[in-house]
Amino acid sequence: MGKMIKLSKSDIGFLEIFSVIKTLRKSYLGMGDEVQKFENKLKHFFGREVVCVANGTAAIQLALESCQIGKGDEVLVPSFTFLATYQAISATGATPISCDIDLKTLIIDIDDAKNKWTTKTKAIIPVYFTGGYGDINAIYDFAKEKNIRVIEDAAHAFGSRFENKLIGSFGDISCFSFDGIKNITSGEGGCVVTNDRTLIETIKNKRLLGVINDTENRYLGKRSWTFDVTEQGWRYHMSNIMASIGIVQLKRFKYFSTKRRKLAKLYDSLLTNSESIKPILRNYDDVVPHIYVVQIDSKFERNYIRQELQKKNIEIGFHYFPNHLLSYYNINEKLPQTEKIFKNLISLPLHTKLKTTDVKYVANTLIEILAKNEN
Ligand SMILES: *Cc1c(COP(=O)(O)O)cnc(C)c1O
Repeated sequence: MGKMIKLSKSDIGFLEIFSVIKTLRKSYLGMGDEVQKFENKLKHFFGREVVCVANGTAAIQLALESCQIGKGDEVLVPSFTFLATYQAISATGATPISCDIDLKTLIIDIDDAKNKWTTKTKAIIPVYFTGGYGDINAIYDFAKEKNIRVIEDAAHAFGSRFENKLIGSFGDISCFSFDGIKNITSGEGGCVVTNDRTLIETIKNKRLLGVINDTENRYLGKRSWTFDVTEQGWRYHMSNIMASIGIVQLKRFKYFSTKRRKLAKLYDSLLTNSESIKPILRNYDDVVPHIYVVQIDSKFERNYIRQELQKKNIEIGFHYFPNHLLSYYNINEKLPQTEKIFKNLISLPLHTKLKTTDVKYVANTLIEILAKNEN
């Protein structure tokens, strides 16, 4: 048995380990100066205000709540996304309105979103699947026309650029995840990026149980012993331990992004001549891919292909099962494009520890297995 080629993997080196040890030795593990430092570095990276939270799901939930979105409100969102996007919406009491996707980009179908707009619609959440995007301008034009918020689920898109601008550096609100396998990690973690200072202040309070202005005290290693609370809050802050990992990962991001782009481009070139495999096309000069997704011909059964690849020590994944088909959401809506394509999508291994020889092995093995199972 050879070594399994994992679908995804964290890239943690000595620098992250030393950084965590340093924080542990300071014996202040909660939210404090390391979080402030990480936020400042991210602020510099995006050129915008940043607030760090416990994870990407919390980032989306707090962004929605801080826009006063909740019970009775509707949020336009593609069904084709990680469950986290849906749970973040329903956590606020708002209703996710499932939209279809464009078959070429796998990003929200803006015409379908327009059809589903009602007077209850308060926001649209585009999901930048794999790190790519569709026509972001069309989304913002629509949002402006209807006076609704745009809360970008940019969990896959850390480092991606649209029209030469970093995702997160423009637009309304962008939410990122620093989960263990995302483009950078802080173990767990996430952040909200926006120019809206009121929103940033609201989220800073909400992440610490709604205690007004507690953040500044925490950065000084203090706590607010007398305080007031005026709204629902959550225990959604980031810890110093997490931030000390994130700070190092941000320094290494240039290396991570170069590596991810190079591997995705290599996959593209190796798979381009295959009849049965269609890579999701992204411009990897702009996009830093979080996952690498291909569409296989509908005559293949992807569970079987997964098992065959497993035997060859290759782990693949399925991103994502449409949320409107889940019992909890059970949205009685036909989304023809989503329902047509999702069963034919597979995600191939992509992480910074992969070698070019691994990518060649994965691509060739997949081509071989599909060839063996024609008919
Ligand atoms: C990872 C992810 C999230 C949530 O981030 P967590 O940090 O895991 O909570 C949200 N949306 C998408 C598309 C994701 O991939």
